[in-house]
Amino acid sequence: MKFICFECAREYPVAHPVIYRCECGGLLDTVHDWRHTDAEQLRRLFDMRRADRHTPLSGGVWRYKELIHPSLPIEHIVTKYEGNTGLYEHELLRRYTGVRRLWLKAQSENPSGSFKDNGMTVAVSHGLWLGWERFACTSTGNTSSSMAMYAALAGKEAVVFLPAAGVSLNKSLQTEAYGARLLRTEGGYDEGIRFLEQYAGQLGLYVCNSINPLRIEGQKSIVFELAHDLRWKLPDWIVLPGGALSNASALGKGLEELHRIGLIESLPRVAVIQAQGASPFHAMLRSERRQLHPVLSPDTVASALNIGNPPNWPKALRYAIERTGGVTASVSDEDILAAKSVIDRSGIGCEPASAAAVAGLRKLVADGTIGPDETAACILTGHLLKDTEAIVKSLSAGIPAGRYPAAAATAIRLDAEHVARALQA
Ligand SMILES: *Cc1c(COP(=O)(O)O)cnc(C)c1O
Ligand SMILES: [Zn+2]
Repeated sequence: MKFICFECAREYPVAHPVIYRCECGGLLDTVHDWRHTDAEQLRRLFDMRRADRHTPLSGGVWRYKELIHPSLPIEHIVTKYEGNTGLYEHELLRRYTGVRRLWLKAQSENPSGSFKDNGMTVAVSHGLWLGWERFACTSTGNTSSSMAMYAALAGKEAVVFLPAAGVSLNKSLQTEAYGARLLRTEGGYDEGIRFLEQYAGQLGLYVCNSINPLRIEGQKSIVFELAHDLRWKLPDWIVLPGGALSNASALGKGLEELHRIGLIESLPRVAVIQAQGASPFHAMLRSERRQLHPVLSPDTVASALNIGNPPNWPKALRYAIERTGGVTASVSDEDILAAKSVIDRSGIGCEPASAAAVAGLRKLVADGTIGPDETAACILTGHLLKDTEAIVKSLSAGIPAGRYPAAAATAIRLDAEHVARALQA
């Protein structure tokens, strides 16, 4: 295993102290040596670890250690058995999207409530191995919650640069509750990441944003576990939301690696769904340009997608789009909230950003990009309770002001007659 520059192919050793970008400015990518890898042997190993509980390799990320970070000494692993998430089907959602069969992979069920845990456990463990004491990130709220959780678990300091506006209250409170040092900053995610790239070294901070290639390696486990769940036969399409495009990069890379090793026989296609107010990647692909033009003031109800200049776009382009024959789509805030209400009412639930995947799948079936006889899995990236303000927004649409939050509800007298009358209304 080594790091290699995505632009100039310069190589860096895996224990290199700073590992985000090459001297030329290119993103670093992780390259593994699969020469001695046997698919059957790996399947048996993964099955065996799946039967364990509470060992360092029994979670849904480190179970696949050989494919993620084989060099890391096990004693540096900090884990909350992330992954191990549910895979659901629901007729309501199948009909809503229009595919023959639909699975929902609920990464929302991770320990901090989002898929960021899949990558963060690897980035933080790697930082511990290298001896870092201060872990830092900028965030729209989920990266920071995840990083703060693992830093606290490891007894290290978490420093979080969180935009002063536009982050859900739930996420900022969660981050702070885990004991992170919270700096509320001007600007959004894009300004935060630009600052960290420039000054993290000088400030002695280990950056846990997705420019850290170990985040990408960890997030590959989402498709590893999905394939494992489905006995190594994946659906035709994997559909996910795209913000910073770390997950699109990771899932595309993971799929290619599964295929190359022989763990899966056919390669699914990836569909990356962006929110209309923050869709520079979709715009780039539609124009057939190969250079991303950032959106200067990104704006969407799906706050986890509120990113105008996604740092991982070159990786997403290669791994998710070019290698899998992938596509992109963009969906409006209305489409997102409509899909969210169907996901919530199906009993699965998610935050708005995740619902973009379902809204996007519905759109791609409607326009004929995805056929009604095809199968798909949507990645639900974040938990329903991550953004309670969005719940208020969708529940209170068309309902007189004051009914929400629930504290303001009028009380029904608890006798059989009054309750029966209320149920009839
Ligand atoms: C981070 C996040 C996304 C976007 O993922 P990227 O890797 O930034 O594209 C989508 N949904 C949720 C809930 C997230 O936390
Ligand atoms: Zn380079």
